[in-house]
Amino acid sequence: MKETEIPPEHPRAESLRIREKLVEHYKAGIVAKAGLFAHGRGEAFDYLLGEKTTKNALKAIEAAAAALLTAKHPVISVNGNAAALAAKDIVKLAEVTRAKIEVNLFYRSAEREIAIKKLLEAAGAKQVLGVGKAASAKIFEIGSERRRVDPAGILVSEVVLVPLEDGDRTEALVKMGKKVVAIDLNPLSRTAQFATITIVDNIVRAMPALVETAEKLKQEDRRKLESILSDFSNKKNLGEAMNLISQRLSELADKGTFISIAQKGKE
Ligand code: ATP
Ligand code: MG
Repeated sequence: MKETEIPPEHPRAESLRIREKLVEHYKAGIVAKAGLFAHGRGEAFDYLLGEKTTKNALKAIEAAAAALLTAKHPVISVNGNAAALAAKDIVKLAEVTRAKIEVNLFYRSAEREIAIKKLLEAAGAKQVLGVGKAASAKIFEIGSERRRVDPAGILVSEVVLVPLEDGDRTEALVKMGKKVVAIDLNPLSRTAQFATITIVDNIVRAMPALVETAEKLKQEDRRKLESILSDFSNKKNLGEAMNLISQRLSELADKGTFISIAQKGKE
């Protein structure tokens, strides 16, 4: 089903549109095949969360904005899925927080890196790090080509936003002493567990909310931002995200069936 063929009244129209967007970007060489599976894993958790940005996610978004705004060298690490689903907001967030944008892929390929760079530039990015030979530094905590980073970007950053990252790399970045902000729908994933600040939300909702929050917090003084950061506990926040899922499931479990077939002519 093409994006244009999805009936607007379909109860899962938004989710189908997002899937279709990923398929289109897979065909264009931006999303990796494994990225399609990764999205499916995320979607399952979105179902459990009720497909909305929770208050709990908003707290993590505030802390994330404060971390990016107080950093000297903030970096937004971009993979295929993130570029396909949030290119415009990645560029906006980079502008508001003065962050650099770096392409950092699990499955590295020159073609994919260039395709992602072009997509980001079309969305307004002025500079895109990490492409080709620019990713000349190596993170020793991880093996293979996945260890490559840009010496002008992730290598020297203290805060890295990694929307949809893999657990090994999140762990490596934290071991390097960096503050890692993750966007991950699954509060149980290693990424969510290892990150300094985990936003348990869908990237398509979290990124615009992060841009808006960063714009607001930019008006505040540094002390206020630092107090937001020190008041935030990722351990507590992740626990709350798990509790939300658990409470929602137990409420639905009391009902057993909670969706009924719509009758023609009736609401
Ligand atoms: P980890 O390596 O962190 O333990 P994993 O191996 O279970 O995680 P990966 O396939 O490495 O999963 O990473 C994909 C992650 O991205 C998943 O945790 C999934 O929940 C998350 N994800 C996928 N799509 C989205 C999305 N649109 N918004 C937010 N999170 C997403
Ligand atoms: Mg993984």
